[in-house]
Amino acid sequence: MSIEGKNRRFMNIAKRIAQESGGPDYKHGAVLVRGGQVVNYSHNCLRPVNWANRFRNHQCGHATQHAELGAILGISRKKTTGSTIYVARIGSDGHFRLSKPCPMCLQIMEHVGIKRVVYTVNDEHVAEIKLTQGIDEEHFNYMPALRSAKRKEKRNE
Ligand SMILES: [Zn+2]
Repeated sequence: MSIEGKNRRFMNIAKRIAQESGGPDYKHGAVLVRGGQVVNYSHNCLRPVNWANRFRNHQCGHATQHAELGAILGISRKKTTGSTIYVARIGSDGHFRLSKPCPMCLQIMEHVGIKRVVYTVNDEHVAEIKLTQGIDEEHFNYMPALRSAKRKEKRNE
């Protein structure tokens, strides 16, 4: 999809927020939107988020506050259910970069009822992931350990 209309409007907000992020690279901004209204927003930071670790493969380190998590934290389920989240990453040159959410964030966003994630691909394009039918297996392809952990969890239920 090209970045226009609503996508442009919310990505511009996400971009401004991403600029507040500390590091020189990996500047992410996320905007939670419901019914066309901004509910909350956040950039990423290195603060550890203990509760998120259960959604995370231990081989890839401790969970830190990704922009998506910051935008969800403290927001009631009533507001997150059916919402859309816009996630932007900007490079050190200020241009949009690929900001595909990681498996941890996808699982958490699905868990709180977010229906759609729109993320930046580059300066011209965005892509989306629909979470209402569950997370597609392809998003876990690069994290087989997480997938098997999920299966184990299911068996134990
Ligand atoms: Zn993430």
